[in-house]
Amino acid sequence: MDYTSIPKLGFGLMRLPMIGDEVDIEQSKKMADDFIAAGFNYFDTARGYINGLSERAVKPILSDRYPRESFILADKYSWWCIKDGDSESFFQSQLERTGAGYFDFYLLHAVDESNYEKYDALGAWAFGAAKKKEGLVRNFGFSFHGKADLLDKLLTEHPEVDFVQLQLNYIDWEDDGVQSRLCYETARKHGKGVLVMEPVKGGALAVLPEKAREILKAADENRTPASFALRFVASLDGIITVLSGMSNVAQAADNIATMSDFAPLSEKEADAVSAVAEILKNAPTVPCTACKYCTENCPMGIKIPSILRGAYNHYKSYENIDVAKARYNEAVGGAAAASSCIGCGACEEVCPQKLPIRALLEESATLFE
Ligand code: SF4
Ligand code: SF4
Repeated sequence: MDYTSIPKLGFGLMRLPMIGDEVDIEQSKKMADDFIAAGFNYFDTARGYINGLSERAVKPILSDRYPRESFILADKYSWWCIKDGDSESFFQSQLERTGAGYFDFYLLHAVDESNYEKYDALGAWAFGAAKKKEGLVRNFGFSFHGKADLLDKLLTEHPEVDFVQLQLNYIDWEDDGVQSRLCYETARKHGKGVLVMEPVKGGALAVLPEKAREILKAADENRTPASFALRFVASLDGIITVLSGMSNVAQAADNIATMSDFAPLSEKEADAVSAVAEILKNAPTVPCTACKYCTENCPMGIKIPSILRGAYNHYKSYENIDVAKARYNEAVGGAAAASSCIGCGACEEVCPQKLPIRALLEESATLFE
């Protein structure tokens, strides 16, 4: 398949609009129609998205309404969904639910250091290759969340894969944990096309601190922070498409507008993005490593690392209080709130990072509760 013919924006079907517990099919149809009318055609689903409703929505939104050859559909083989090692039944159920007849892109899902041996044990690589031979899969690859060393090993062992899907964005580009740049360079070294996920880092790069916003504005006052993030990854060589999870008509319109008149970042814009990445990296976050020694000692059962890493650090980086509050509620998840700290200090005695946990929890309670 000639990847260069694929438009550079893909529609992630993992955050479709909802009405109660059901996908808002009518609004989703409108979003898909706008997307297709603007010249885009790539859609991405998986069994796990919206508890299985994403795959089922493909049929009413796309398969029942558009000629099959007019859109590109990606679906995924997720090891945790394969019952009794029966890959065939799972695959058939995906064809049936989506009504797609075949998948243009089929991916082993979220491969990393913790699970790649599970895919080996399931014979998943051979399964994907066999489906490609049968014509039920047009391009076979995997989405990847591990380190570059593992990516290199997998691409060396499996030259049959056509592409990889990577988490690429400008803030993770030099990050030691995500290794965006190293993974991208590894994929290109093996000659693979790259699908991009998390270009806006789950929305984090859409809302930036004022200082960072000013820098981007000085480079181009008419572009949003999200559009800089999308264009950063879309400007790279060998990108097949950039996936964006869209959850309403307005968001879809914004993405479409950004990528319809796509122009690679100019030198000035690239410098501005690097300066923003520097600001975000130097934000006054706390170096909690999630070792959890503190939680083992906390008599109140406070999820200290989840609060510090999930909410506190996010707020210090992006200064977006609404998102940080939502992340705080998610981090606490029904367990003890930061304000339930009794100040015993047991956590601080064992914290290898010597963090002032009590003060940080007090600040978190003030900010987020
Ligand atoms: S000081 Fe607070 S957070 Fe630390 S162990 Fe005691 S109750 Fe838990
Ligand atoms: S002990 Fe310190 S570094 Fe480890 S999880 Fe707790 S706060 Fe983070």
